[in-house]
Amino acid sequence: MLSATCHCGRVRLSAPAPPPYRNECHCTVCYKYGAVWGYYPKTDVTITIDGSSTPATDPAFSSTEPLPGLAYYVRGDIAKTGESPGASPRGHLAFARCAHCGCMTHWVGVEPDYAENPKQRLGINTRLMDKADLVGVEHRVTEGPRM
Ligand SMILES: [Zn+2]
Ligand SMILES: [Zn+2]
Repeated sequence: MLSATCHCGRVRLSAPAPPPYRNECHCTVCYKYGAVWGYYPKTDVTITIDGSSTPATDPAFSSTEPLPGLAYYVRGDIAKTGESPGASPRGHLAFARCAHCGCMTHWVGVEPDYAENPKQRLGINTRLMDKADLVGVEHRVTEGPRM
């Protein structure tokens, strides 16, 4: 088991293994956050906030209302995957941070079709993982979704 923990320690995400690769996404928002994502299916991840654990498959994890102890920025500037080009942007990805120390912990889809699908992926900020746990994990840099 491997953990990503915010600076103050109130928020922790657990996954069974290191991600297959880390993605330093240079899209407009990730670049500013400085996050380096590891992608996991929701079935692999549990979040623990102030000692209270919630599996990522729990609908509360993908709700538009953040779990207590988290704060959200819901991205609304890009079309959802599969949406036709030019479709009006909708808020569908929530970038979550610890409400106390502000560390960016993860992103999760909060649209109903995503929220209800336990096979969907989420991104954990691997900068919150122990460096020793990430030795040998490929580091990619991508441009991310275009505007
Ligand atoms: Zn914190
Ligand atoms: Zn990005």
